Amino acid sequence: MSWDSAELKPCNGRKCTFCGARTPIYYRRYSGEMLCSTCFKKNIVERVRRTISRYDLLRPDDRIMVAASGGKDSLALLKILQIIEADFPKSELIAVTIDEGIGGYRERAAELVERFASSLGIPFYKMGFEEFYGFTLSEVVEAGIHRRLGVNPCTICGVLRRKALSLAARKLGATVIATAHTLDDVVNTYLLNLLKGERNIKPVGLRREGEGVVPRVAPLRLIPEREIALYAYLEGIPFQSETCPYTHSSMRDRIRNFMAWYAAHKPEALYAFLKNFERMLKPPKAENRCAICGEPTSRRICRACELELAIKRALGRLDPDEAEGLEREPHVGDYEEEA
Ligand code: SF4
Ligand code: ZN
Repeated sequence: MSWDSAELKPCNGRKCTFCGARTPIYYRRYSGEMLCSTCFKKNIVERVRRTISRYDLLRPDDRIMVAASGGKDSLALLKILQIIEADFPKSELIAVTIDEGIGGYRERAAELVERFASSLGIPFYKMGFEEFYGFTLSEVVEAGIHRRLGVNPCTICGVLRRKALSLAARKLGATVIATAHTLDDVVNTYLLNLLKGERNIKPVGLRREGEGVVPRVAPLRLIPEREIALYAYLEGIPFQSETCPYTHSSMRDRIRNFMAWYAAHKPEALYAFLKNFERMLKPPKAENRCAICGEPTSRRICRACELELAIKRALGRLDPDEAEGLEREPHVGDYEEEA
């Protein structure tokens, strides 16, 4: 992440807007505030607290499963929620890393999450594709199955990780899943959906209850990604910086780069987009449930289940009684850039 020098320079001898005493380390261009390190960290926690209350994301007695990949956003979320939830003695926090089975890469991330969660006194669990689906991502990629299905490894990874999080949450008795989607992620997801011509765009990271479904919330949805990165840095949070071997330049990355460029010129742009776009969203319609996993979907079986079955078939591991779930071969347009 690159920093605009105007955001980090010592603000010409002026003092922190909040405490009026310490030297600012960050100039928040969209609000005109200058913040010292201490006030910046407190302010981020406070803004997440307000986001949770404004959108009613968490309940006082929730068992909150934090989806922790080992990146800066998810570890910062873990730390921030640990501070906020200390005021709610009936709530519980657990950290879960989904191990997709990417030769060595996710194991190292999981070790990082485990150490960090343990330093915060938060129970940690690792669950993986192997356990839920009987195959690993590396196995799928090495066999060239992604090419046969016309999708890239990240698409398989993203769609199946999302399902794995739901399975993990049910297994661990979580009442809500907290993901580390930042303001940038939420805006990117809306833009991608718009560009795909989706008609039924659903709110991202807002709590939607449904029988048998563990809701997902994004407590960082109003915080720009660069501020989460700065928070992680100032808190000294150790996060995984190595790149996944399957990473590639996706449409999501291109939109992210465009938005970063646009927001650098118009710092309030992401907030303006989010506010106006969410105002236009129609209330979500009642959805069907996947005949296999029970998650909401507009089809008979959801995309994740369809993809899982197609991979099992390609690996020659599809049980005859599972085969009837797979009515057609998935194709690239079904999954590309799934949020
Ligand atoms: Fe998965 Fe792609 Fe991320 Fe690697 S880069 S962890 S394959 S989504
Ligand atoms: Zn399903």
